[in-house]
Amino acid sequence: MGSISKILFITVPILIACTFIFTIMMILSPKFRGKLMARQIKATKYMLDESKDSLEAIGKTAGNIGINIKKDILDENKDNLKNIARDEADIVKDSIKIKARAIKEGLTKENIFCKYCGEPIDEDSIYCKICGKKQ
Ligand SMILES: [Zn+2]
Repeated sequence: MGSISKILFITVPILIACTFIFTIMMILSPKFRGKLMARQIKATKYMLDESKDSLEAIGKTAGNIGINIKKDILDENKDNLKNIARDEADIVKDSIKIKARAIKEGLTKENIFCKYCGEPIDEDSIYCKICGKKQ
């Protein structure tokens, strides 16, 4: 037997056994899984600490890009936005006019009630619409 096959003859079964043990432990031991996860979390934390400056720079760049995009959109649609605002203002103006008119009418129109049944009737009506009696 050559020296290489001798090494393989020893190491391959060891590797297979290690993999087998690792798999069994992963399946059966929550503690072992937890330890592995904790290591991974530690590694992530270490990675974050190491790349703090880069992450900050990325965040800043992303923020700037967002602001620039917003600015571009606003610049491109300035006229449309102005028109929308103007239309909205017109609608509000009209609705205020309508409401003011309704309030004025409500204030000036006296509420007249039938002398006999007490139901509200029109100011100029001679006969009650509800009971038919002459006012
Ligand atoms: Zn009446």
